[in-house]
Amino acid sequence: MNKPLILIVEDDAPIRNLISVTLEAHEYRHIAAPNAATAILEASSHNPDIMLLDLGLPDMDGVKVIRKIRSWSNLPIIVISARSDDTDKIEALDAGADDYLTKPFSVDELLARLRVTLRRLNQTPSDSPDTAVFSNGDLRIDYAAGCAYVKDEELHLTPIEYKLLCLLARNCGKVLTHKYITQQIWGAAWENNVASLRVFMATLRKKLEAADGGASCIQTHVGIGYRMVKASE
Ligand code: CA
Repeated sequence: MNKPLILIVEDDAPIRNLISVTLEAHEYRHIAAPNAATAILEASSHNPDIMLLDLGLPDMDGVKVIRKIRSWSNLPIIVISARSDDTDKIEALDAGADDYLTKPFSVDELLARLRVTLRRLNQTPSDSPDTAVFSNGDLRIDYAAGCAYVKDEELHLTPIEYKLLCLLARNCGKVLTHKYITQQIWGAAWENNVASLRVFMATLRKKLEAADGGASCIQTHVGIGYRMVKASE
């Protein structure tokens, strides 16, 4: 397999260089863009495998860059945000970003996010979203039968818990925001349902944990949303 090509979009030269050096040391190829205009050009001409996108760019808001890219490409985008405010990350995820890193981040964190995203890209056909059976570690979902199993033991889920589990499974590895999940499950009137979502997610996790000896593949991102973690992480 070719070394993955990463597009680094960052106007802060020291951070851009740090990322470049890190990627070089870990068998990634990379190209870099200091602003949004160059980033969009590089994304369309080089077809990178992953885009690392700083949200605070001099010429355009990073969220706008995501919307533009998403109008023609599914290129995985990992957002890098210096802002501690979660609303930026939520806005970026809702615009179609796949994951986020908060500055300052460690080299290990950066590499871990890249691995997660690449693994999602290289999904084998058996766990692609279109197949009838999804499996992730001890969890198995038989979409045709409408049943979920942990270690071959059937989970007794309510219809909403099952829908939640399927939604997370179909987006395995990706952070889904509260807004996205509630819209998918309950439709447009999502605002009133974030509290419900927490309750359903808590009962779903409890059932998963009970079946799997205390472990759950669902990760909570406080104030942002949830992610199903790939088992091999
Ligand atoms: Ca910046």
